[in-house]
Amino acid sequence: MTARILVVDDVPANVKLLEARLLAEYFEVLTAFNGADAIDICENGKVDVVLLDVMMPDMDGFEVCRRLKSDRNTSHIPVVMVTALDQVSDRIRGLEAGADDFLTKPVNDLQLLTRVRSLVRLKMLTDELRLRASTTRSIGIEELLGRKDPLGDVRARLLLVDQRAPSQQRLTDMLLPFADVETVSDPQEALFRAVEGDFEAVVIATGLTGFDPLRLCSQLRSLDRTRFLPIVLIAEPGEDNLVMRGLDLGVNDYVTRPVDELELTARLRTQIRRKRYNEELRSSVAQTIEMAVTDGLTGLHNRRYLDSHLATLFERAGARGRPLSLMITDIDRFKPINDTHGHAAGDEVLRDFARRLRKNVRGIDLACRFGGEEFVVVMPDTEPHIAEKVAERIRHEIESQPFAIGGGTQTVQVTVSIGVASMIPGKDSVDTLVKRADAALYEAKNGGRNRVVAKAA
Ligand code: GH3
Ligand code: MG
Ligand code: MG
Repeated sequence: MTARILVVDDVPANVKLLEARLLAEYFEVLTAFNGADAIDICENGKVDVVLLDVMMPDMDGFEVCRRLKSDRNTSHIPVVMVTALDQVSDRIRGLEAGADDFLTKPVNDLQLLTRVRSLVRLKMLTDELRLRASTTRSIGIEELLGRKDPLGDVRARLLLVDQRAPSQQRLTDMLLPFADVETVSDPQEALFRAVEGDFEAVVIATGLTGFDPLRLCSQLRSLDRTRFLPIVLIAEPGEDNLVMRGLDLGVNDYVTRPVDELELTARLRTQIRRKRYNEELRSSVAQTIEMAVTDGLTGLHNRRYLDSHLATLFERAGARGRPLSLMITDIDRFKPINDTHGHAAGDEVLRDFARRLRKNVRGIDLACRFGGEEFVVVMPDTEPHIAEKVAERIRHEIESQPFAIGGGTQTVQVTVSIGVASMIPGKDSVDTLVKRADAALYEAKNGGRNRVVAKAA
């Protein structure tokens, strides 16, 4: 994971120390020795995470953080406050200033790398979302990113695995302000619940009697349903080795007992934010793909989709020695409908035409809007005489029932001409097949319209 980390501290020795550790992990490191420079660098450069010292002359870390978080250009950069003293009041002030996480000096290597990695991953997701948002102007995404509390009003859903009742109670009390918590004691039960339930993160306390907590982690990672479910460990002091092995297995983060409420909730928030961004991203990708291959007016697949999918269907039919037929439909005298009743009425006709087309073909047939008032239906496993029957049924369906326009205030009579062609094994290409259907359509038009012409060969 290459990422650019900005280290900010007024004491050069502290900067050097963090820089060396990060460089050893192949991060790129930028440095600043005061707040003003740090803000400049963030505004100009591509910074992925800021490690920010709290105590600095002139402008302290809280102020720097506040400024970064209130500027649209830098508010998305994760900020980790590095506090000299393990002071709760500093943590509260840091979170109030908008910090994403905090570390205590002297900074522990394991903590440093876990936090930085976790925040870098989050940053990469938000970058991707920002990029998409700027190209698609996706309002929803902008809103999600701009939200002051990234979790919004939606409560998190957590699964807590802990065998000790007093600790269960303490942890639940800490989490309840922002999350619904389900608690289980039995690790086997925990696995079932994680798979069945709709959780956003699992918190696993180590010290399960007779059960290795890491086994639960690796089981969660190996199952499809829980592969991407964030896992946060609650470790005992001195369990660094266990934590390290956990991180190798895919544990996302950890806190050490005694658990600091602010720390635990900050870590969980980061994980849940990442999960939610991830889901947002996935659904926006799915949506973009969907939009790219769908015709907006009719909801049918568009020509781009037809082009790629027809080739697949054609090859498969050839390879399996199965028939394949195709029809091109073209609405008769459609232009006069537009001219007489208006473009909106034309659109109504197209929509209803698409609906009738879909109604009269099988689920495995591929119905597409080819362009304008032309549609194509690809029919796998369909002999020529059957294809012709289907075309005739569609022609009849269009002619027999007038089309409603003007929101149902008027009707208009519509007819369609259809050309049908079937694949000649070993002789045809996609191109010649489509051309033959097109020629058949041309014949249907010339023959007086409102008819089907089939060219089997
Ligand atoms: P023919 O019987 O020979 O097919 O005559 P036609 O009028 O249907 O054929 P022509 O190709 O001359 O006209 C097609 C018309 O379809 C012209 C175009 O403005 C209209 N059209 C294409 N796309 C749309 C659309 O999305 N909405 C509407 N309302 N009209 C469209
Ligand atoms: Mg036309
Ligand atoms: Mg036409």
